[in-house]
Amino acid sequence: MTHHDHQQLAPDTIVVAAGRPPREHDAPVNPPIVLSSTFHEAVDPAAGDRIYGRMSNPTWDPFEAALGKLEGAALPALVFGSGLGAAAAALSLVPTGGVVVMPRHAYAGSLSLAGDEASRGRFTVQTVDVANTDQVLAALAGADLLWLESPTNPMLEVADLRTIISAAKKAGVTVVVDNTFNTPLVCRPLDFGADVVLHSVTKYLAGHSDVVLGALATSDPDLQVKLLKHRTLHGAIAGPFEVWLALRGLRTLALRVERSQATALYLARKLQSHPALTRVRFPGLPEDPGHQRAADQLNGFGSIISIELADVAAAEALISAVRLWLPATSLGGVESLIERRRRQAGEPVTVPESLVRLSVGIENPEDLWADLEQALTGLREVDGSTR
Ligand SMILES: *Cc1c(COP(=O)(O)O)cnc(C)c1O
Repeated sequence: MTHHDHQQLAPDTIVVAAGRPPREHDAPVNPPIVLSSTFHEAVDPAAGDRIYGRMSNPTWDPFEAALGKLEGAALPALVFGSGLGAAAAALSLVPTGGVVVMPRHAYAGSLSLAGDEASRGRFTVQTVDVANTDQVLAALAGADLLWLESPTNPMLEVADLRTIISAAKKAGVTVVVDNTFNTPLVCRPLDFGADVVLHSVTKYLAGHSDVVLGALATSDPDLQVKLLKHRTLHGAIAGPFEVWLALRGLRTLALRVERSQATALYLARKLQSHPALTRVRFPGLPEDPGHQRAADQLNGFGSIISIELADVAAAEALISAVRLWLPATSLGGVESLIERRRRQAGEPVTVPESLVRLSVGIENPEDLWADLEQALTGLREVDGSTR
C-alpha cells in the first residue's frame, strides 16, 4: 500500500496502518528505534542527506507521516520535544512587533509563553473569549496570528471554528489551532482553513502518560520550512524512543477516544444531578452553552469534564477522597486524572477556584462513577458532621 492510498482510508484505520515499514520479506512490521546522532553521507550531496540527529531521525518519520495524514495535511507533521516546544515554533511565525490574538482560557503554558515573548517586546497579545464570535472577529483587525483552542482548557468554551477561521483567512491572519483536546478524530482544523495545527502529543496521541512530546501539522510548504527551521535551530527535538512510544500509543487512539468519550458523557450526566456540584461543564450535555456548536462542528464531545464545587475546601476534599482517580495534572492518558486547576500558579484567575478538571480514561465506567460518588457523598457527610 502506498502512502497516497492512506488518504482514502478512515481515520480509525489510519491510526493502525500508517507509518509502517515497506512490505519486504523479513522486514519488521513496526519501525525500528534508530539511536544515532549522525548518519552516513551520500556521495552526491544533491541526494539530500539526513546529516545530523538534530535535523532528522528515521524514527520520527513514521509518526510524522501518520499524524500528517490524520490531520488531513498535505505534508508530514513535525514532531517536537514537547507541546510547548511546538508552540514556540508556531509563535515564531508572528512578525516582530506583531499582534497575537489568544483565548483568555487557552492552555496556561501557551498563555505564559506568549506573555513571556510579549514582555520582552517580541509582539503584543490580545486575549478574547473564544465563545464570543463577535469579540473574536473584532480582534482580527490588525492581528497577525490567531491562536485558537476549542474547547478551551479547562473552561471547555467552544468556538465557532468555521466562522472565525474563514474570517481570519479573509483578513490575512495566520491561524494556529491547538487541537490537543480534540485529537484529529474529533476535529481537523485544516479542513476549516487553519494554517497550522498543534498537538501536545503528551496527551491523547501518545495516550499513556509516559512521554512528553509535541507536534505541528500544516499543508503550506512555506510555513513548513519556517517551522522546521525553528525546530532545527532552537533544538526542541524529540528523542527517538519517545516518538516510537507515541506511534505505539497512536495505534489505539480510535479505541481509546471512543471509550473515554462515551464514559465522559455517562459521567457528566451522573454528575449533573449530584447536589454537591454547583456546575458541570461538558459540551456533550444539551444544557451546556457550547453543545450546539460542538454538535455541529466536532465529531464528538471529548473526554474532559470540568466540575465546580461549593468552595476550594470541597474541591480539595473531593480530590483527597477519590481512590481510583489519580490526583495529577495532565490529561488524555488511559488512566483517569483529577485536578483542581487553580493549584497551578499560571492558571488564569478567571478560572473558578473550585473548578476541578476530570480527564476521563478508559477504566470501567461504573468503577469511575462509584469512586466519584463515594467521594462526593463523603463531602456531604463531612458538611453535616460536627467537624
Ligand atoms: C499540555 C498541553 C500543552 C503543552 O504541551 P506539553 O507537551 O506539556 O509541552 C499545550 N496545549 C494543551 C491544550 C495542553 O493540554
